[in-house]
Amino acid sequence: MTQTSSLRIVWIYPDLLSTYGDRGNALVLEHRARLRGLSAEVVHVHSDEPVPTSGDIYLMGGGEDRPQMLAAERLRADGGLHRAVDAGAAVLAVCAGYQLLGAEFGDDQGRPVPGLGLLDMRSGRGERRAVGEIVGDVEGELGLPSLTGFENHQGVTHRGSEVRPLASVRLGVGNGDGTEGAWQGRVVGSYLHGPALVRNPALADLLLGWVAGPLPEVDDELVERLREERLTAVLPGA
Ligand code: GLN
Repeated sequence: MTQTSSLRIVWIYPDLLSTYGDRGNALVLEHRARLRGLSAEVVHVHSDEPVPTSGDIYLMGGGEDRPQMLAAERLRADGGLHRAVDAGAAVLAVCAGYQLLGAEFGDDQGRPVPGLGLLDMRSGRGERRAVGEIVGDVEGELGLPSLTGFENHQGVTHRGSEVRPLASVRLGVGNGDGTEGAWQGRVVGSYLHGPALVRNPALADLLLGWVAGPLPEVDDELVERLREERLTAVLPGA
C-alpha cells in the first residue's frame, strides 16, 4: 500500500465462504487499521465476480463441503488471488478457505479436489469431526500470544516442507497432527473461527504490519478481557 491510498481488505466469496461470524475478521482489520489513522475499506467479492488484484489483505472464511468445492473451482479459474499473492498481498483463510489454499482437499465423499496450491499442504477427510474450542501456542518467529478460537471441521491437513505450522495445539484438534494452521510468506491459514481476529488481535496486527509497515500499539483492554475469559473457560488453572 502507498501512504496516500486506502488499505484494501478483500473478503472473497461471502456468498460461499462465511461461517461462524468469519466476516468479523474483515471488520477487525478495518477497525484496527483505522485506530492507527490508516484509511481502510472492505471490498466484498461475490463468487460471480472477478477477484481484484489490487487488494492488500485477502480473507476467506469457512464453508460447507459443496460451497467449498465451488469456491475452489471459481478461484482456480479466476487466477486473481494468485496474482495478488505474487504481488505481495497478505492472505488469511479460515477452515474451508484454509483447506482450499493447499494442493488438494477432500470433497463430501473424501475424494480429492484440486485446491489453489498457494500453501504447500493437502487436506483430506478425517474419521471424526473436530468440534469445540481450540488453543494453540504460536510458532516463535511470528511473536504472537496463544491463539484462541472455535473449530468445526472434518478435514485433516498434512503440511509439506515449504509451510510452517502456525501453532502447536494445547487444546483441540487443528491440523490433526498436534499442530494448527500453516503459513508461508504472507499467506496464513487456520482452522480458527471465533472469529479468529476478534479473539486474536495480534494476528490481525501481524497481517496489517506486513502490508502497512510498523504499527503503534493500541489499547486492547476489552479484547484482553475476552481472551482471558475464553482461555480460562477452556483451560482452567492455566
Ligand atoms: N468442509 C470443511 C470440513 O468439514 C470445512 C468446514 C468449515 O469450514 N467449517 O473440513
